[in-house]
Amino acid sequence: MPSFPEFDLPAPGETTRLHEGVYWLRMPLPFALNHINLYLLEDTDGWFIVDTGLGGKTTEKHWRTVFDSALKGKPVKGIIATHMHPDHIGQAGFLNDHWKAPLYMTRGEYFGTRALSGPETGASRWSDAEHYRRAGVDEIQIEAAISAESGFGNFITPMPRSYQRLQHGASLKINGSEWRIVVGSGHSPEHACLFNETLNLLISGDQILPKITPNISVYSTEPNSNPLADYLDSLPQFLDLPEDVLTLPAHNFPFIGLHKRVREMQEHHEEKLQALMAATSKAQTAIELLPVMFKRKLDGSQLMFALGECVAHLNYLMVQGDMERTLEGEQYLYRATRQVDAPTSGANEELPVQPI
Ligand SMILES: [Zn+2]
Repeated sequence: MPSFPEFDLPAPGETTRLHEGVYWLRMPLPFALNHINLYLLEDTDGWFIVDTGLGGKTTEKHWRTVFDSALKGKPVKGIIATHMHPDHIGQAGFLNDHWKAPLYMTRGEYFGTRALSGPETGASRWSDAEHYRRAGVDEIQIEAAISAESGFGNFITPMPRSYQRLQHGASLKINGSEWRIVVGSGHSPEHACLFNETLNLLISGDQILPKITPNISVYSTEPNSNPLADYLDSLPQFLDLPEDVLTLPAHNFPFIGLHKRVREMQEHHEEKLQALMAATSKAQTAIELLPVMFKRKLDGSQLMFALGECVAHLNYLMVQGDMERTLEGEQYLYRATRQVDAPTSGANEELPVQPI
């Protein structure tokens, strides 16, 4: 576990100074994970906001308090969203419209949000249903999962109609120092982190979290995707940043020990992969394999997020050649291509199952 320097925990609508010109704030979330961390970066003539909170009146009220109390009379000049998930992008439309300030995002995340928050096309949902059926989900849960997937737009304010593109390796100069964009993938397609070498700070969004691992899921939109490979491939670049960088994540607390945390997350996924291989010496469906990865009882949306994470690990193993998948009737059965023992340590660690 990395270490957590002592800072005052900011109440909603309040800010905590982390460094000159860098402030931490929190917005509530109505989930088991009950908060998101957001950051304010002060420039000479205004402010940049990093991530925005969930859509809705509660977060908007807290933002208005921040406008009145924390901005020293300067305007917001840019809104940076690390990625497309509703707790990060939810208030971008409100902030963009209120301040007439540009939204900064990577291209993949911006257009992903536009697509998911747009009106339904009316296309048949047979492929969504097939995806869940093949995983072993029953018909009642399939119905519930499909209707829940249509709710993205309910959690965000209307997306701005234009944006400024963030690209890997490019920098934003704020108050005389450079924030370099470091793009990760796997949790979302083109997730932007921001590294400031001068201040020795990394805003890591959901790409690197100190206490839980970010959700890495396969969705029905791309059932044969391999997001775990995307994630594991994009982690080592963070080992090139300083170990003692103060990392500012979107959940939990600012921490020190970036390399240690990256290695913990790598080991965590290795253990889950090994546990799945050990459990599939006899062929099983994805839904039957959930207890291998999650010890607690899951239902509703939790079950679907867990399933997405399980299939992500199974797809990864298939691409590696360590897992075979056969279609039996309407369900996929998974079987390891070689025998391995179950991991001896840490395999019971709970993965987070969060709509974030
Ligand atoms: Zn996220």
